[in-house]
Amino acid sequence: MTKKSQREKNFLILIVLVVGLVLTIKLVQLSGLRAAYNSMHQQSTQQLNNLINYIENTLGRFEKFPEVLSTHPLLQEVLAHPNDLIKRDKLNLLLEEVSGVTQASDIYLINENGLTLSASNWRKKNSFVGSNLKVRPYFLQAMTGVSSHYYAVGLSSDKRGYYFAHPVTYQEQVIGVVVVKISIAAIENQHEQLINGDLYNFLIVAPDNVIFISDRKEWRLKKINFLREKTDSTPLDLKRYASRDIQQLDLTKISSPFFPPTLDASLYQINDSSTQEIIFAQQARMADANWQVHIWSSLKPINSEDSFLTIVSIGGYLLLVILVLFIKERMKNSQQLYQARLLLEQRVKERTEDLTAINHKLLAEIEQREHTQRQLENIQEELIQSAKLAVIGNMSASINHEINQPLTALKSYSQNALTYQERGMTNKVTGNLKHIIGLIDRLASIVSQFKNFTKKSTGIHIPVYVQKSINETLAIIKHQAQNERVQIFFKVPEQVFYIMGDGIRLEQVFVNILSNAIQAMKDIDKKQIYIQIKPIDSNVQILFRDNGPGILDTNIDKIFEPFFTTKESFGLGIGLSISQRIIESMQGQLIATNHCEGGAIFTISLPLHPFK
Ligand code: ADP
Repeated sequence: MTKKSQREKNFLILIVLVVGLVLTIKLVQLSGLRAAYNSMHQQSTQQLNNLINYIENTLGRFEKFPEVLSTHPLLQEVLAHPNDLIKRDKLNLLLEEVSGVTQASDIYLINENGLTLSASNWRKKNSFVGSNLKVRPYFLQAMTGVSSHYYAVGLSSDKRGYYFAHPVTYQEQVIGVVVVKISIAAIENQHEQLINGDLYNFLIVAPDNVIFISDRKEWRLKKINFLREKTDSTPLDLKRYASRDIQQLDLTKISSPFFPPTLDASLYQINDSSTQEIIFAQQARMADANWQVHIWSSLKPINSEDSFLTIVSIGGYLLLVILVLFIKERMKNSQQLYQARLLLEQRVKERTEDLTAINHKLLAEIEQREHTQRQLENIQEELIQSAKLAVIGNMSASINHEINQPLTALKSYSQNALTYQERGMTNKVTGNLKHIIGLIDRLASIVSQFKNFTKKSTGIHIPVYVQKSINETLAIIKHQAQNERVQIFFKVPEQVFYIMGDGIRLEQVFVNILSNAIQAMKDIDKKQIYIQIKPIDSNVQILFRDNGPGILDTNIDKIFEPFFTTKESFGLGIGLSISQRIIESMQGQLIATNHCEGGAIFTISLPLHPFK
């Protein structure tokens, strides 16, 4: 991949990641914020219901009160005799006392002309007594004979109040009106303690869209522009608000994608000179009073939820990206591992095939070598046999002499036996026949020695008694030695020596060494051979020393080589080489040296065998 296309790929991945992040944040916000709005709606509904209950209870407590009060005879008496100051004072005191007990703001009696005759606040500076209230709607309505209620800013008190009025009748004629006024401020103050002002604000809006009650002072007696669906809101009754200047509280409805569309609430921005807050507005109608009751919730919890959700979604998204990268890396690694394993398996397979081929080749070579080895062994066997026959050949003259002697004796004994037979000298015939039998035994013993020697060896190693082997060798060689007038000295040691080997081959070695020694001394007058056996460490040493000319220094390393011979006419040159191999096959050693006084020494060392 080129650098450019790699850069483009990286850029694309970055864009996908950013889009993914934005989508994740939006999705989390959508579900999280909708849940938060729903929860806010629930709590706000609860607050709204509490507020409505509270106001209805508060107003309900005073609703029937003017009616009950209107039946008091003192009221009729004062209305009938307005100039009776004693009665009026009495009524003043009564109204003052009732007002104190009921916690009504003011209670007062108005005559049919609208003049206030008595009032609970008669003692106060701005007492209603003497004021004319004939313009007040509640008075006018009560004068028609029905109960009325009304909210307004007090003309003399300049305080917001709620008025309950009831006609006072005499003989079914309306002669005046009794009014109970309650303070709106008291409702606000009490309710402020019930509601968490940090999170919720409440307001009560009159049909003319004026906020009549609110826990927020700055909103009170302000007209708002949105709250009623109907545009034909009741026109402003300016008397109701005394001399107040009714200003506008500007609200703008705002929309949010996270706001649940099914919720019966809205988001508004308050465009006040001092603040620009956004509120969650929920409203309900109070049927009797025809008021809209509102709970405006602060968006603080939503905003902090929003921040929390943003952080959580970013964190979650990053974790997800890291997880995806990690899994991708793991998959890449395991793919690489898998490829490497396949490659390795392939190489192992190839190597195994190579090795198998080499192995087959080696096996074939081993078989070939074994075959050659077997052939060599056969040849060696043949050689050994040839070497024996060569020795026998060398000894044939003396054997011949040895056999001829008894044969000549046999002939003369037989002829003599015949002569004695003819002469009837049977005693002598018997004597001669005994001699003949003795000679035949001797011949048989000579032949059997050579027969044994020429037998093919078994090649099996068994314990061999060394002294016995030498004695048997001497029996074979003695005819040749006698023939050549060689003296052989062998002092049999007391200690018994055994070695592990092949007895016939060991004798062959001895015969070979002794036969060579006899031949080497052929020009010497006094021919002598010494045989000695002695133990050295764990070996037995067998020495053959002759007093011949010894071995030439130039030849001493060559005499064990195959086919080396100094014997011109009859030497094969294999005797010593075969002898050395025979001794080595028995874990021994055969060496040749010259004696300082002349003559050759052949030394055989063989490991002792502890055979008893
Ligand atoms: P061959 O007897 O047929 O020559 P050998 O291997 O038996 O073969 O002997 C090799 C040579 O070692 C002989 O030709 C001879 O020169 C030398 N040799 C062997 N024994 C003696 C000895 N006792 N004294 C001197 N030379 C010897």
